[in-house]
Amino acid sequence: MKEKARQARAENRIIGLVPTMGALHEGHASLIARAKRECSPLCASIFVNPKQFGPNEDFAKYPRTFESDCEKMKRGRVEALFVPEAAEMYPKDFSTYVYVEGLSERLEGKSRPGHFRGVTTVVMKLLQIVQPHRAYFGRKDAQQARIIMQMAGDLNLDSEIVVCPIVREPDGLALSSRNVYLNPEQRKAATVLSRALEAAKKEMEAGSRDAPHLQDTLRRKLDSERLAAVDYAEIVDAESFEPVVRVNRACYIVLAVFIGKTRLIDNLYVEPKSSGSDELVFHL
Ligand code: AMP
Repeated sequence: MKEKARQARAENRIIGLVPTMGALHEGHASLIARAKRECSPLCASIFVNPKQFGPNEDFAKYPRTFESDCEKMKRGRVEALFVPEAAEMYPKDFSTYVYVEGLSERLEGKSRPGHFRGVTTVVMKLLQIVQPHRAYFGRKDAQQARIIMQMAGDLNLDSEIVVCPIVREPDGLALSSRNVYLNPEQRKAATVLSRALEAAKKEMEAGSRDAPHLQDTLRRKLDSERLAAVDYAEIVDAESFEPVVRVNRACYIVLAVFIGKTRLIDNLYVEPKSSGSDELVFHL
Protein backbone atom coordinates (compact mmCIF):
# COMPACT_ATOMS: atom_id res chain seq x y z
CA MET A 1 0.00 0.00 0.00
CA LYS A 2 2.81 2.39 0.92
CA GLU A 3 4.59 1.64 -2.33
CA LYS A 4 1.43 2.32 -4.37
CA ALA A 5 0.78 5.52 -2.45
CA ARG A 6 4.32 6.73 -2.97
CA GLN A 7 3.98 6.08 -6.69
CA ALA A 8 0.68 8.00 -6.93
CA ARG A 9 2.18 10.91 -5.01
CA ALA A 10 5.19 10.94 -7.36
CA GLU A 11 2.76 11.18 -10.29
CA ASN A 12 1.15 14.22 -8.63
CA ARG A 13 -2.17 12.46 -8.32
CA ILE A 14 -4.74 13.33 -5.64
CA ILE A 15 -5.06 10.37 -3.29
CA GLY A 16 -8.37 9.92 -1.48
CA LEU A 17 -8.97 7.61 1.49
CA VAL A 18 -12.24 6.28 2.89
CA PRO A 19 -11.56 4.27 6.06
CA THR A 20 -14.27 1.76 7.01
CA MET A 21 -14.84 -1.27 9.19
CA GLY A 22 -16.67 -3.01 6.34
CA ALA A 23 -20.29 -4.20 6.45
CA LEU A 24 -20.81 -1.49 3.87
CA HIS A 25 -24.09 0.39 3.43
CA GLU A 26 -25.28 3.51 1.63
CA GLY A 27 -23.58 5.72 4.25
CA HIS A 28 -20.20 4.33 3.23
CA ALA A 29 -21.25 4.50 -0.43
CA SER A 30 -21.89 8.23 -0.08
CA LEU A 31 -18.36 8.81 1.22
CA ILE A 32 -16.95 6.73 -1.62
CA ALA A 33 -19.00 8.62 -4.22
CA ARG A 34 -17.90 11.99 -2.86
CA ALA A 35 -14.24 10.91 -2.65
CA LYS A 36 -14.43 9.49 -6.17
CA ARG A 37 -15.54 12.86 -7.51
CA GLU A 38 -12.61 14.62 -5.86
CA CYS A 39 -9.72 12.15 -5.94
CA SER A 40 -7.84 9.71 -8.11
CA PRO A 41 -6.69 7.20 -7.09
CA LEU A 42 -9.32 6.42 -4.48
CA CYS A 43 -8.31 4.06 -1.71
CA ALA A 44 -10.71 2.53 0.80
CA SER A 45 -9.80 0.44 3.78
CA ILE A 46 -11.64 -2.31 5.60
CA PHE A 47 -10.33 -2.98 9.07
CA VAL A 48 -12.37 -3.96 12.11
CA ASN A 49 -10.04 -2.26 14.55
CA PRO A 50 -9.82 -4.31 17.76
CA LYS A 51 -8.33 -1.36 19.66
CA GLN A 52 -11.49 0.73 19.46
CA PHE A 53 -13.75 -1.92 21.01
CA GLY A 54 -14.12 -2.26 24.78
CA PRO A 55 -13.80 -5.70 26.41
CA ASN A 56 -17.59 -6.04 26.69
CA GLU A 57 -18.36 -4.67 23.23
CA ASP A 58 -19.24 -6.38 19.96
CA PHE A 59 -15.80 -6.89 18.31
CA ALA A 60 -16.26 -10.66 17.87
CA LYS A 61 -19.76 -10.41 16.44
CA TYR A 62 -19.31 -7.18 14.46
CA PRO A 63 -20.81 -7.90 11.00
CA ARG A 64 -18.19 -9.04 8.50
CA THR A 65 -19.39 -9.17 4.89
CA PHE A 66 -16.15 -9.13 2.94
CA GLU A 67 -17.42 -10.58 -0.34
CA SER A 68 -20.29 -8.15 -0.77
CA ASP A 69 -18.08 -5.29 0.49
CA CYS A 70 -15.65 -6.04 -2.35
CA GLU A 71 -18.52 -5.92 -4.84
CA LYS A 72 -19.62 -2.54 -3.47
CA MET A 73 -16.08 -1.19 -3.58
CA LYS A 74 -15.83 -2.32 -7.21
CA ARG A 75 -19.15 -0.69 -8.04
CA GLY A 76 -17.89 2.51 -6.38
CA ARG A 77 -14.79 2.25 -8.61
CA VAL A 78 -12.42 2.18 -5.64
CA GLU A 79 -8.95 1.73 -7.13
CA ALA A 80 -7.11 0.39 -4.10
CA LEU A 81 -8.72 -1.66 -1.36
CA PHE A 82 -6.55 -1.89 1.75
CA VAL A 83 -7.49 -4.77 4.06
CA PRO A 84 -4.74 -5.27 6.62
CA GLU A 85 -4.64 -8.06 9.20
CA ALA A 86 -4.79 -7.10 12.88
CA ALA A 87 -1.41 -8.80 13.43
CA GLU A 88 0.10 -6.61 10.73
CA MET A 89 -1.37 -3.39 12.12
CA TYR A 90 -0.56 -4.32 15.71
CA PRO A 91 2.43 -6.64 15.94
CA LYS A 92 3.23 -8.07 19.37
CA ASP A 93 5.59 -5.24 20.31
CA PHE A 94 3.18 -2.46 19.25
CA SER A 95 3.31 0.27 21.90
CA THR A 96 2.58 3.72 20.41
CA TYR A 97 -0.84 5.38 20.69
CA VAL A 98 -2.34 8.69 19.59
CA TYR A 99 -4.69 10.33 22.04
CA VAL A 100 -6.57 13.62 21.68
CA GLU A 101 -7.03 14.94 25.21
CA GLY A 102 -10.25 16.55 26.40
CA LEU A 103 -12.45 15.86 23.38
CA SER A 104 -11.85 12.10 23.75
CA GLU A 105 -13.10 12.09 27.33
CA ARG A 106 -16.63 13.41 26.70
CA LEU A 107 -19.85 11.67 25.60
CA GLU A 108 -18.80 8.65 23.49
CA GLY A 109 -15.43 8.71 25.24
CA LYS A 110 -17.04 8.64 28.67
CA SER A 111 -19.37 5.76 27.75
CA ARG A 112 -16.70 3.85 25.85
CA PRO A 113 -13.36 4.24 27.68
CA GLY A 114 -10.42 3.77 25.33
CA HIS A 115 -12.61 3.95 22.22
CA PHE A 116 -11.23 7.18 20.78
CA ARG A 117 -7.65 6.22 21.63
CA GLY A 118 -8.18 3.19 19.39
CA VAL A 119 -9.81 5.31 16.68
CA THR A 120 -7.16 8.04 16.55
CA THR A 121 -4.36 5.48 16.63
CA VAL A 122 -5.75 3.47 13.72
CA VAL A 123 -6.67 6.55 11.68
CA MET A 124 -3.18 7.96 12.22
CA LYS A 125 -1.71 4.68 11.00
CA LEU A 126 -3.99 4.59 7.94
CA LEU A 127 -3.09 8.19 7.09
CA GLN A 128 0.62 7.35 7.42
CA ILE A 129 0.29 4.30 5.21
CA VAL A 130 -1.92 5.76 2.47
CA GLN A 131 -0.68 9.37 2.68
CA PRO A 132 -3.99 10.65 1.25
CA HIS A 133 -4.48 14.26 0.22
CA ARG A 134 -8.06 13.94 1.42
CA ALA A 135 -9.63 11.51 3.91
CA TYR A 136 -13.41 11.19 4.19
CA PHE A 137 -15.46 10.64 7.34
CA GLY A 138 -19.20 10.65 8.11
CA ARG A 139 -20.95 13.16 10.36
CA LYS A 140 -22.89 10.17 11.72
CA ASP A 141 -19.88 9.90 14.03
CA ALA A 142 -19.66 13.63 14.69
CA GLN A 143 -17.43 13.48 17.75
CA GLN A 144 -15.07 11.08 15.98
CA ALA A 145 -14.82 13.42 12.98
CA ARG A 146 -14.14 16.38 15.28
CA ILE A 147 -11.42 14.46 17.14
CA ILE A 148 -9.76 13.38 13.90
CA MET A 149 -9.73 17.00 12.71
CA GLN A 150 -8.12 18.03 15.99
CA MET A 151 -5.48 15.32 15.59
CA ALA A 152 -4.78 16.34 11.99
CA GLY A 153 -4.29 19.95 13.06
CA ASP A 154 -2.29 19.25 16.21
CA LEU A 155 0.06 16.83 14.46
CA ASN A 156 0.41 18.92 11.26
CA LEU A 157 -0.83 16.11 9.03
CA ASP A 158 -0.85 16.67 5.29
CA SER A 159 -4.29 15.09 4.81
CA GLU A 160 -7.39 17.25 4.56
CA ILE A 161 -10.21 15.80 6.67
CA VAL A 162 -13.55 15.94 4.83
CA VAL A 163 -16.78 15.40 6.78
CA CYS A 164 -19.84 14.17 4.85
CA PRO A 165 -23.58 14.33 5.71
CA ILE A 166 -25.51 11.52 7.44
CA VAL A 167 -27.33 9.08 5.16
CA ARG A 168 -30.67 7.86 6.55
CA GLU A 169 -33.30 5.25 5.82
CA PRO A 170 -36.59 6.65 4.48
CA ASP A 171 -38.05 6.52 8.01
CA GLY A 172 -35.18 8.58 9.42
CA LEU A 173 -32.99 5.89 10.98
CA ALA A 174 -29.32 6.73 10.35
CA LEU A 175 -27.64 3.91 8.44
CA SER A 176 -25.25 1.91 10.57
CA SER A 177 -23.55 -1.47 10.26
CA ARG A 178 -25.04 -2.24 13.69
CA ASN A 179 -28.64 -1.86 12.47
CA VAL A 180 -28.51 -5.55 11.42
CA TYR A 181 -28.56 -6.46 15.13
CA LEU A 182 -32.12 -5.09 15.44
CA ASN A 183 -35.10 -7.45 15.26
CA PRO A 184 -38.20 -6.09 13.47
CA GLU A 185 -39.74 -4.69 16.66
CA GLN A 186 -36.48 -3.03 17.69
CA ARG A 187 -35.94 -1.72 14.15
CA LYS A 188 -39.26 0.11 14.44
CA ALA A 189 -38.36 1.44 17.90
CA ALA A 190 -34.97 2.65 16.62
CA THR A 191 -36.64 5.47 14.69
CA VAL A 192 -37.10 7.16 18.07
CA LEU A 193 -33.61 8.68 17.75
CA SER A 194 -34.37 10.64 14.59
CA ARG A 195 -37.90 11.38 15.84
CA ALA A 196 -36.43 12.95 18.99
CA LEU A 197 -34.04 15.04 16.89
CA GLU A 198 -36.93 16.12 14.65
CA ALA A 199 -38.94 17.17 17.70
CA ALA A 200 -36.06 19.33 18.96
CA LYS A 201 -35.60 20.77 15.48
CA LYS A 202 -39.26 21.71 15.35
CA GLU A 203 -38.98 23.60 18.64
CA MET A 204 -35.89 25.44 17.47
CA GLU A 205 -37.70 26.37 14.25
CA ALA A 206 -40.46 27.80 16.44
CA GLY A 207 -37.84 29.96 18.19
CA SER A 208 -36.72 27.88 21.18
CA ARG A 209 -33.01 28.30 21.99
CA ASP A 210 -32.98 27.12 25.62
CA ALA A 211 -30.84 23.97 25.86
CA PRO A 212 -32.35 22.52 29.08
CA HIS A 213 -35.84 22.94 27.60
CA LEU A 214 -34.81 21.28 24.33
CA GLN A 215 -33.16 18.51 26.30
CA ASP A 216 -36.46 17.88 28.12
CA THR A 217 -38.14 17.49 24.75
CA LEU A 218 -35.51 14.96 23.67
CA ARG A 219 -35.85 13.00 26.91
CA ARG A 220 -39.63 12.92 26.78
CA LYS A 221 -39.59 11.65 23.21
CA LEU A 222 -36.93 9.02 23.91
CA ASP A 223 -38.55 7.87 27.17
CA SER A 224 -41.85 7.40 25.34
CA GLU A 225 -40.28 4.45 23.49
CA ARG A 226 -40.54 1.36 25.69
CA LEU A 227 -37.56 -0.42 24.07
CA ALA A 228 -35.22 2.58 24.31
CA ALA A 229 -32.75 3.17 27.15
CA VAL A 230 -30.97 6.52 26.91
CA ASP A 231 -27.21 6.65 27.44
CA TYR A 232 -26.97 10.38 26.74
CA ALA A 233 -29.01 13.09 25.01
CA GLU A 234 -27.17 16.40 25.07
CA ILE A 235 -26.71 19.68 23.29
CA VAL A 236 -23.06 20.53 22.90
CA ASP A 237 -20.83 23.12 21.30
CA ALA A 238 -19.75 21.86 17.86
CA GLU A 239 -16.07 22.61 18.55
CA SER A 240 -15.54 21.61 22.18
CA PHE A 241 -18.38 19.11 22.63
CA GLU A 242 -19.05 20.77 26.01
CA PRO A 243 -22.71 21.34 26.97
CA VAL A 244 -24.26 24.68 25.97
CA VAL A 245 -26.99 26.66 27.72
CA ARG A 246 -28.34 28.38 24.60
CA VAL A 247 -28.33 27.29 20.99
CA ASN A 248 -26.93 30.50 19.52
CA ARG A 249 -23.82 29.11 17.80
CA ALA A 250 -22.83 25.92 15.95
CA CYS A 251 -24.02 22.99 18.09
CA TYR A 252 -24.61 19.28 17.91
CA ILE A 253 -27.57 17.59 19.49
CA VAL A 254 -26.06 14.19 20.20
CA LEU A 255 -27.85 10.99 21.18
CA ALA A 256 -26.71 7.55 22.30
CA VAL A 257 -29.53 5.13 22.95
CA PHE A 258 -29.71 1.41 23.61
CA ILE A 259 -32.41 -0.44 21.73
CA GLY A 260 -32.21 -3.80 23.47
CA LYS A 261 -28.48 -4.60 23.55
CA THR A 262 -27.73 -2.50 20.46
CA ARG A 263 -26.23 0.91 21.12
CA LEU A 264 -27.15 3.45 18.44
CA ILE A 265 -25.92 7.02 18.02
CA ASP A 266 -27.32 9.90 16.01
CA ASN A 267 -27.02 13.67 15.89
CA LEU A 268 -28.36 16.90 14.49
CA TYR A 269 -25.96 19.67 13.51
CA VAL A 270 -27.34 23.18 13.85
CA GLU A 271 -25.64 26.49 13.09
CA PRO A 272 -26.59 30.16 12.71
CA LYS A 273 -27.61 30.98 9.11
CA SER A 274 -24.93 33.65 8.94
CA SER A 275 -22.61 35.13 11.52
CA GLY A 276 -24.59 36.92 14.23
CA SER A 277 -27.92 35.73 12.79
CA ASP A 278 -30.59 34.36 15.14
CA GLU A 279 -31.90 32.15 12.35
CA LEU A 280 -30.63 28.56 12.41
CA VAL A 281 -29.78 26.07 9.67
CA PHE A 282 -30.25 22.36 10.40
CA HIS A 283 -28.31 19.38 9.10
CA LEU A 284 -30.15 16.22 10.07
P1 AMP B 1 -17.62 2.50 10.06
O1 AMP B 1 -17.45 1.42 9.03
O2 AMP B 1 -18.88 2.37 10.87
O3 AMP B 1 -16.38 2.72 10.89
O4 AMP B 1 -17.82 3.85 9.25
C1 AMP B 1 -16.89 4.27 8.29
C2 AMP B 1 -17.19 5.69 7.94
O5 AMP B 1 -18.51 5.79 7.41
C3 AMP B 1 -17.13 6.63 9.16
O6 AMP B 1 -16.48 7.84 8.79
C4 AMP B 1 -18.58 6.85 9.47
O7 AMP B 1 -18.83 8.09 10.09
C5 AMP B 1 -19.21 6.81 8.09
N1 AMP B 1 -20.64 6.50 8.20
C6 AMP B 1 -21.21 5.48 8.88
N2 AMP B 1 -22.55 5.54 8.80
C7 AMP B 1 -22.85 6.64 8.06
C8 AMP B 1 -24.05 7.26 7.63
N3 AMP B 1 -25.26 6.77 7.94
N4 AMP B 1 -23.98 8.38 6.88
C9 AMP B 1 -22.75 8.90 6.57
N5 AMP B 1 -21.59 8.38 6.94
C10 AMP B 1 -21.62 7.26 7.68
